[in-house]
Parts: sequence; C-alpha cells; structure tokens
Amino acid sequence: MISLQGITKRFSGHTVFKDIDLSLAQGEIIVIIGPSGTGKSTLLRCINFLERPDAGRLQVGDLSVDTQHASRADILALRRHTAFVFQNYGLFANKTALENISEGMIVVDKLPKTKAHARAREILERIGLADKADAYPASLSGGQQQRVGIGRAMAANADVILFDEPTSSLDPQWVEEVLSLMKQLAVERQTMIVVTHEMQFARDVADRVVFMDEGGIVEQAPPEELFTAPKDDRTRHFLRKIL
Ligand code: ADP
Ligand code: MG
Repeated sequence: MISLQGITKRFSGHTVFKDIDLSLAQGEIIVIIGPSGTGKSTLLRCINFLERPDAGRLQVGDLSVDTQHASRADILALRRHTAFVFQNYGLFANKTALENISEGMIVVDKLPKTKAHARAREILERIGLADKADAYPASLSGGQQQRVGIGRAMAANADVILFDEPTSSLDPQWVEEVLSLMKQLAVERQTMIVVTHEMQFARDVADRVVFMDEGGIVEQAPPEELFTAPKDDRTRHFLRKIL
C-alpha cells in the first residue's frame, strides 16, 4: 500500500540517504529508530514532499509518483494520502482545538463547515478532549496539544500517518497519554510510520522496526528479533546505548 523505491536525498552535496527501499502493507505499523542526524525526519518529510527527494519513486495507496517528475498535482495528491504529526505539534496558535482539527476538512476536503465541525467533535471525543473544543493551544498541556495534532491527522483520513518523534518535546508526565492514543490507533490498524526513541512503544506496537544509520536503512525486523538478535554491528552499538 505504501512503497518507497530508490529514494535518495542530498542537501547541498551531502547525501543524507541513498536508494532507500521500504514497503508497508495496509494496517502495518513501522517504527524507525536510529541516531540523530541520520535522516529519519528527512525520510518522513520526503514521503509527503515536505522535502523533495532527489531520486526515487513513491507509491501511496493508488497513487504512484516518480519524484523526479512530480507535478504540483502529484504533490498535492501525495499530501492528501498522508498525514503528518510533528514533534512540536504544528498547531495553529490562533485556532481552537476544534478549528485545528476541522481546518483541513474545510480547506482540503471542501467539507461544509457544519459537517467538518461535527466530524471534528467526534474526533475530539475519540482523543479524550471533547471538553476542550473551544480551547486555544496555549491553554492546553503539551500532551493535549499533541493529541490535537494527532486528531488533525486522523481527520485527514489519510492512508498513512507519519509521526516524527511525537513525544520528544513533551514533559515526561504527558508522554504516556500520547503513546496511549497512538496505541489506540494501532489497535484500529491505522497504517503508520513512527520515528521514536520510545523503545517500549516499539516493542508493544510495531510490526517491524527499521534501524537507520548514516546513509540509509541498516536492517529491519520484528521488534523481538531486532532488539534481541540484531544482525549488524551498528544496530548492536546503537541498542546498547539506548536500551
Ligand atoms: P534525524 O531526524 O535522523 O535526526 P534529519 O533528517 O533531521 O535527521 O537530518 C539528517 C541530516 O540532514 C543532518 O545532517 C541534517 O543536518 C541534514 N538536514 C536536515 N534538514 C536539512 C535542511 N533543510 N537543509 C540542510 N541540511 C539538512
Ligand atoms: Mg528528526
């Protein structure tokens, strides 16, 4: 349902990664781990063209795009098939929780406002923030803000949700409520790619863990296998430091 073929990204001559191949089936949950600076964020951002890949093909759902020749329409379509959850939530500060969640449905999906708001209220219910519909981000805790960020991604009805270190900006007391919402989505078999350092989350939720190091993907395996019997020295070295 999602496939990256030969995805390459350079920044002014420096190759971040080259020829990345990665596929996910519908309902699959992948966790990407690796040292900082290895291109995990850049890879996620390439999937929805927040960064333009230098080579490769992206397939999401029924859409297949040669990144070299992607048109404006291809890029918009790719963004419609994917949703992004940012480390720093990425909420509109001047919009309420309800408006943050309904904005995309109104602007992108062209839903009438009343419909979008009704759907946003259902989502607020699911993310446990029904009573915060009219609250602005500044009045919400970090955990609540990130749940709104996830609610906005849910509203996009995308084929895949991309999470870039969704809990790493949070005070420790808010981490669990965000992970537990993500687990709820996982139980519902929402397809997702999650970059995180939360190894327990990876163990509990991931179908597959992908280890990235300089230049690309080093190895990937189900969590039990990757954590207990890593094949590559770089993976072993990284896990020794983090576990
Ligand atoms: P990670 O998420 O694994 O920590 P990043 O994807 O943020 O890694 O970064 C990978 C590499 O690309 C780093 O060397 C970083 O400095 C570089 N990089 C990321 N974004 C940009 C950018 N917009 N311009 C130039 N270099 C960048
Ligand atoms: Mg990053």
